[in-house]
Amino acid sequence: MNTNRRSFLKLFGGAVAGAGIGSYAGLSLADAGADHKAIKSAAAKKKLLGAKEFTTACNFCSVGCGMVCHVRDGKLLNLEGDPDHVISLGGLCSKGASMRAAHESDQRAKTPLYRAPGATEWQKISWDEAIDKIANKMKAVRESTWIETEKDGDKDVPVNRTDALAFMGGAQHTNEECYLFQKMGRTAGSVTIEHQARV
Ligand code: SF4
Repeated sequence: MNTNRRSFLKLFGGAVAGAGIGSYAGLSLADAGADHKAIKSAAAKKKLLGAKEFTTACNFCSVGCGMVCHVRDGKLLNLEGDPDHVISLGGLCSKGASMRAAHESDQRAKTPLYRAPGATEWQKISWDEAIDKIANKMKAVRESTWIETEKDGDKDVPVNRTDALAFMGGAQHTNEECYLFQKMGRTAGSVTIEHQARV
């Protein structure tokens, strides 16, 4: 038979369709009484066998949707919306649903990065170094901008604050973390303590 390219594709398509109909007419899993949903859920359970379950919150926006994740041997196996979460009830938007990709990305910063004044390159530093740098800077700023008193008419009234430090919390913080965060901000003398959702 003489077959050009177009008729070959037609013949090939017909053959594939024929094969599809053939297998449809044959015995499928459903015909054999198999329950697809049960098979799928059993496979998912097997995948998570021995994994530890954690709850967490999406880190992308101020909604703070709840997530549940499974970790085995330090590796994240599964990440999905938490159906028991009081706000999001298991729902995630496309950003939240893609969080696992961000977790696994090789572009993700896993250590603090520091760029020295005047430098053009970022350098990796340890968490201890980063915390020391931040603490030293905060102390210096606090001391140099401390306001002890302010005038109220003729009187000097104590205010004991700095206007040079601000604290910004996020939707991912738990109640306990927010409590500690507030304490730290107030103790530092800041009156500017905010939440990302209000900015
Ligand atoms: S899932 Fe979407 S809406 Fe929910 S916190 Fe993440 S980014 Fe915000």
